[in-house]
Amino acid sequence: LASRDFHPENTVISIGDVKIGGGDLVIMGGPCAVESPEQIDEIAGLVKAAGGQVLRGGAFKPRTGPYSFQGIGVEGLVMMAEAGKKHGLLTITEVMTPEYVDVCAEYADILQVGTRNMQNFDLLRKLGACGKPVLLKRGFSATYDEFLNAAEYILAGGNPNVMLCERGIRTFETYTRNTLDLSAIPVLQSLSHLPVISDPSHGTGRRELVEPMTKASVAAGADGLIIEMHTDPDNSMTGDGVQSLFPDQFAALLQDLEKLAPIV
Ligand code: PEP
Ligand code: MN
Repeated sequence: LASRDFHPENTVISIGDVKIGGGDLVIMGGPCAVESPEQIDEIAGLVKAAGGQVLRGGAFKPRTGPYSFQGIGVEGLVMMAEAGKKHGLLTITEVMTPEYVDVCAEYADILQVGTRNMQNFDLLRKLGACGKPVLLKRGFSATYDEFLNAAEYILAGGNPNVMLCERGIRTFETYTRNTLDLSAIPVLQSLSHLPVISDPSHGTGRRELVEPMTKASVAAGADGLIIEMHTDPDNSMTGDGVQSLFPDQFAALLQDLEKLAPIV
């Protein structure tokens, strides 16, 4: 079902008046994690003012270590839904386990599967029946074939609204957190009809690389971007402050993109 042989036309995912995969570039921005009502409200206002369409933020965080901040949970979903509604943005949040799919689907417009869960098949099956669009992140050591097979689980469950997200893979290089695989964008678009979103934040792990890799992703044909932005990155509650843009950088980047591709 994920293959272009089966479905020659591009899949266009319509949510409200935002169309993903229809030719306009879609920008998702926001913090790694929802931290407080004030934080997510302020960042939502900045994403909207900069021209973004979707507010990102994790309420459930998949942390490498068990003692790190794990996200604020369902309360965070409520805070993000309110901020999205107030500022006229769609929302995307990560869901980590099948048990939380229903509550995440109740509060968010798009459900995100993180890189560590790309092959959590029970989660993927449950998302096949959740009724909301899904952004599936590529596992950090997954081949394109494994990635597309993971998408297939969601499609086979009856959910046609799947986006593929390249967020960097693990290589021998340690300067960057991951290696953003730009080839994934055209390759996935040729093998599949699903929209392809690039994540230059996790794909590099370094703030100064987000701008060039965003532009490179657009040049490579990405249908959208998911970018971390924080008002106080140095004090963010996850380690992802180092890759988060400051609000003025986020706004300037979106302005530059207007010159490269039409934003919705
Ligand atoms: C995130 O989007 O904050 C995240 C945890 O992403 P990934 O699953 O790509 O590491
Ligand atoms: Mn993050």
